[in-house]
Amino acid sequence: MKILLQFPEGLKQHALKHAKALEKERNEVFVSATPSFGACDLAIEEAKAIGADKLVHFGHNEFKKANFNVEYVPYEIDADMSILDNSLDMLKEYKKIGIVTTVQHLHQLGQVKEFYSRNGKEIFIGKPYGFAKAHGQILGCDVGSASTIDSIVECFVYFGGGLFHPLGAVYGTTKPFLSIDPFIKKMEWLDRYREIHSKASKGKIMRSIDARKFGILVSTKTGQHNMNLAKMLKNIIESNGNDAAILIGDTFDFYSLDNMLEFDAFVSTACPRIATDDIDRVRKPLMNANEVLELMKIRKQE
Ligand code: SF4
Repeated sequence: MKILLQFPEGLKQHALKHAKALEKERNEVFVSATPSFGACDLAIEEAKAIGADKLVHFGHNEFKKANFNVEYVPYEIDADMSILDNSLDMLKEYKKIGIVTTVQHLHQLGQVKEFYSRNGKEIFIGKPYGFAKAHGQILGCDVGSASTIDSIVECFVYFGGGLFHPLGAVYGTTKPFLSIDPFIKKMEWLDRYREIHSKASKGKIMRSIDARKFGILVSTKTGQHNMNLAKMLKNIIESNGNDAAILIGDTFDFYSLDNMLEFDAFVSTACPRIATDDIDRVRKPLMNANEVLELMKIRKQE
């Protein structure tokens, strides 16, 4: 069988090992060298270009049904859980706790629940909206596992590495939010980021108040493609007396966007985190759909 392997950045270091193992099973194996941002970002066009029978995507579970033979290989990482002992003092005011994690630590979520239950806490695990597949799992674009239990918990605990995933959940909830990173042995309340996020969002809308020409980004990535939303936004923007064009790309290059000098502002219909995490990488305001709709509303009221 001809197989293309695809790894997210953190797992690319293991590519050769997996390629050799599959070659031993008499497969012809290739490795995608382009960046991969998630299971929304499948290298299907590369697989088709080399005539592969299958794409093996490591590190994530399924995001959206793909029109190609894709095997998902989630990568479990056994993180040291001893750090949880130190969190009890930080959580002493709270009894009802919602816990979330990433796909890499889903197999440890039961142990996290058991630890806190043993220490007198009542633990809640929410259900994702659909892009994430397991209860308690969060993605940068699916924080349902946290927001669906926001009204019943007193605080949240995220167990896992980095800030990318928990910050999405912080923006989508209202309760105190503790991040426990077992890799760098750091525990941190992330609540201050809600205000930073909200100010940045309002700032982008205000900077766009005189914008008349909008570039609407549509990604060709399998899980980020949202042409219907882009067309709807184009209609709304133009019916409010502005100009808009739909801009197509796979991974958007911010340098290229900066070169599109005619546009006063950009609107992303791709990964929702582009318009929150990457706004400083482009000179013009870069908004999400809800922000440009808010802008249109404000301008109508003026
Ligand atoms: S947050 Fe963005 S990169 Fe991550 S899975 Fe969602 S769409 Fe993909």
